[in-house]
Amino acid sequence: MTATRVLVLNSGSSSLKYQLLDMADGSKLATGLVERIGEAASRCVHTLLAHGGSTRDSTREQSGHIADHAAALKAIAAELDADGLGLDSPELAAIGHRVVHGGLRFTAPTVVDDAVLQEIERLVPVAPLHNPANIIGIRTARELRPDLPQVAVFDTAFHTTMPESAARYAIDVETADAHRIRRYGFHGTSHAYVSRKTAALLGRTPDEVNVIVLHLGNGASASAVAGGVCVDTSMGLTPLEGLVMGTRSGDIDPAVIFHLTRVAGMSVDEIDALLNKKSGLVGLCGDNDMREIVRRMDEGDRRAELAFAIYIHRLKKYIGAYTAVLGRVDAVAFTAGVGENSAPVRAAAVAGLDGLGLAVDAGLNAVRSDKARLISPEGSRVAVAVVPTDEEREIAQQVYALVND
Ligand code: ADP
Repeated sequence: MTATRVLVLNSGSSSLKYQLLDMADGSKLATGLVERIGEAASRCVHTLLAHGGSTRDSTREQSGHIADHAAALKAIAAELDADGLGLDSPELAAIGHRVVHGGLRFTAPTVVDDAVLQEIERLVPVAPLHNPANIIGIRTARELRPDLPQVAVFDTAFHTTMPESAARYAIDVETADAHRIRRYGFHGTSHAYVSRKTAALLGRTPDEVNVIVLHLGNGASASAVAGGVCVDTSMGLTPLEGLVMGTRSGDIDPAVIFHLTRVAGMSVDEIDALLNKKSGLVGLCGDNDMREIVRRMDEGDRRAELAFAIYIHRLKKYIGAYTAVLGRVDAVAFTAGVGENSAPVRAAAVAGLDGLGLAVDAGLNAVRSDKARLISPEGSRVAVAVVPTDEEREIAQQVYALVND
């Protein structure tokens, strides 16, 4: 029997999400997550997906204490086993792990061995929030199936093609190099998948088109992709730089930090929490769900209007900047929770940009769909697209391609 299944694991600090795919036909067999790991009431949700449709999906939910990631993965393995999809199945070809930070070393998916794991550990200082959880996920999976290829797929990998002019900060080179300070970018798996899908939507190959991808979720980032190659992205050393996000400030004058230290007496940790957790949309208006913000705007809520205006202003600046970086733009693609679902955000982001060849058709923009689609008027110079992202599928494809090489 050929092994064609790939289990994709996405470990967060207190959660573990998974999807099981069969790469023989690209179908998704199961999906789920364990959340609130380490808390008294952890929750495990497992869905067995019906082949080719959602009508026969069955979901099981359990709560109870799940102490750590090892226990979480064992709970997931038990759920999969109950559906005849266990980790010991000969059909399982590999386990793919989303790893947030791969530094400069990891430019492609990599089979994990001890040396690779050590290198991912070496990157913890530049990704303190994410890499430790990813490492625990990999270690646990290796213990459960030591014989199986465990493949790390890095969020930063797609951005390693950025030229130095885009990747370096204009600070003292020795200091930057000593501490590995540069712009790495994140959400790379999504930017890679969506830019390729956008080319396909236009009936072209990735090397023929220049695309601006706007990944607007709770975290948000933009990227400029020239002929399939990333040439700039909005996140930097960490996922804090760039667009206005759900709870993160995005771009800010670094002197704000000195000012808060000197004038407000805030500690570095307090400022870190302020900029990462209490800023962005939530800091501006108290909500980070775009649905709620638009609903409040409809009621004339001024704070929601201001938050939306700041969010859109920043987005427009990046569309303009990346138009200049690319020289010629064939498509702008919206993706992730906000990008895929919020027609008001898409309309506002391109409003007034007809000088750049950008426009959306109100009717097309209003259609709700989970399919990749164009929303620009026929004959537009630049296509505007909505392209649902699928990071798990992209990870599974990369993993399967590597283990079958
Ligand atoms: P992440 O993966 O970064 O946690 P997602 O890509 O799942 O985020 O996006 C989550 C965000 O998407 C929510 O915070 C919300 O603002 C937005 N969102 C989800 N559904 C809708 C919708 N129907 N309309 C507008 N915004 C939505």
